[in-house]
Amino acid sequence: MGKVAVAFTSAAVVAACSVAAVMVRRRVKSRRKWRTVVEILKEFEEGCDAPVGRLRQVVDAMAVEMHAGLASEGGSKLKMLLTYVHDLPNGTEKGTYYALHLGGTYFRILRVHLGGERSYLDVQDVERHPIPSHLMNSTSEVLFNFLAFSLERFIQKEGNESNSQGVKRELAFTFSFPVKHTCISSGVLIKWTKGFEISEMVGKDIAECLQGALNRRGLDIHVAALVNDTVGALSLGYYHDPDTVVAVVFGTGSNACYLERTDAIIKCQGLLTTSGSMVVNMEWGNFWSSHLPRTAYDIDLDAESSNPNDMGFEKMIAGLYLGDIVRRVILRMSQESDIFGPSSSVFSQPYVLRTNSVSAMHEDDTPELQEVARILKDLGVSDVPLKVRKLMVKICDVVTRRAGRLAAAGIAGILKKIGRDGGGGITSGRSRGEMQMQRRTVVAVEGGLYMKYTMFREYMEEALVEILGEEVSQYVVVKAMEDGSSIGSALLVASSLQS
Ligand code: ADP
Ligand code: MG
Repeated sequence: MGKVAVAFTSAAVVAACSVAAVMVRRRVKSRRKWRTVVEILKEFEEGCDAPVGRLRQVVDAMAVEMHAGLASEGGSKLKMLLTYVHDLPNGTEKGTYYALHLGGTYFRILRVHLGGERSYLDVQDVERHPIPSHLMNSTSEVLFNFLAFSLERFIQKEGNESNSQGVKRELAFTFSFPVKHTCISSGVLIKWTKGFEISEMVGKDIAECLQGALNRRGLDIHVAALVNDTVGALSLGYYHDPDTVVAVVFGTGSNACYLERTDAIIKCQGLLTTSGSMVVNMEWGNFWSSHLPRTAYDIDLDAESSNPNDMGFEKMIAGLYLGDIVRRVILRMSQESDIFGPSSSVFSQPYVLRTNSVSAMHEDDTPELQEVARILKDLGVSDVPLKVRKLMVKICDVVTRRAGRLAAAGIAGILKKIGRDGGGGITSGRSRGEMQMQRRTVVAVEGGLYMKYTMFREYMEEALVEILGEEVSQYVVVKAMEDGSSIGSALLVASSLQS
């Protein structure tokens, strides 16, 4: 071999070696990055862990806080608000009634006709629209004028037959925010939640604000009841099945109410004379316990929210927040590795990943996770490898599993407080073994997260059985109430006007 040929060959060998070295270095680097990502996931998963023992501690804490909130005003983070609802609709109601429902994401208007028997409930018209986002931080005048205008349009669309005598229309205002009631038809806003920020409305009578806006438009409509959405769901549940004593909403936010004995509402003894029970709006979104499995992502989400140090439980279980917890985990992963490629900066935008995308990714059953790829592409993140798409699904699973399990602990906490958990309540001192006679108990549940996210629902129901045990669980029926908040509020107006 000539000198030139030898020199050429050795140069080729050197080049090949250095290419191989670069490739090995890259592979080592990429493996190291993947290891970092896996460690972040592992740490997150451990932080979210909610085994049944821990859930039982949350159950106990919920029941204890409920007692404290009923004992004195400000006695707990749970406000345990009085609703002045003593009697729930029982099926004998008659007539046509309306509901206007301001949720966290949607507002709804509907009309129901009742024929005096349970089977004669006719939901005649339902309108559902997203709340225009500018209204969430506008003024009370702008918000209520908009609601009155929407109601006017709804009424203009009806034929004459629903109101042929020109009778005043009776309306329930379903309002999904904390209100301090003075009676069933009036109450003042305590605070906003779920991203609403119209500060001048805090302390104002909400029913009066709506009535004023309706009057200004010349509408002959009477705001007959101001109803929390959970109370609406309880009313519909009870209407169909009188064993319904608890209602929970998992939508944009989360909250629960239940039927309580008036003598257990110690903070207002003396004031309540009429009836043996009253619906209590727990405002459970603000529940807090050191037993809740909280991670650094939850702490950051809270600190950067419009209501820091508030609604801690809601921020772990409700639709507004689950997507953002997932986003925060992805952001950290992409900051510490480049697994999402150059477009990953999209994940630094708060709330860019919605919970309905989380459920679509989580429930993607295509072998190549095409739905995950599509959602990421819609966010501007393309060509994400399959193993990273699998990682996305895993993060969604961790967040939703924790949410479902904590939601179950919340429900079991209420059952414990009212002695329907098979243990005899927290004051009896009975051990778990000595079971009292169990009564059938129905829990009405509604809200977009629960209705549309199967995995959330399954995790919740599975954990409820784990907490209560197979035997007691047979007596606890969880019933979905589609549009229950709005329909039930209209029923409540009917029963309150008839009693
Ligand atoms: P609101 O809270 O306004 O009363 P909903 O009860 O319909 O309205 O809940 C809407 C919320 O439910 C959405 O903001 C979202 O967080 C959640 N949600 C809606 N659809 C889905 C879905 N397919 N998967 C998961 N969550 C969903
Ligand atoms: Mg709702």
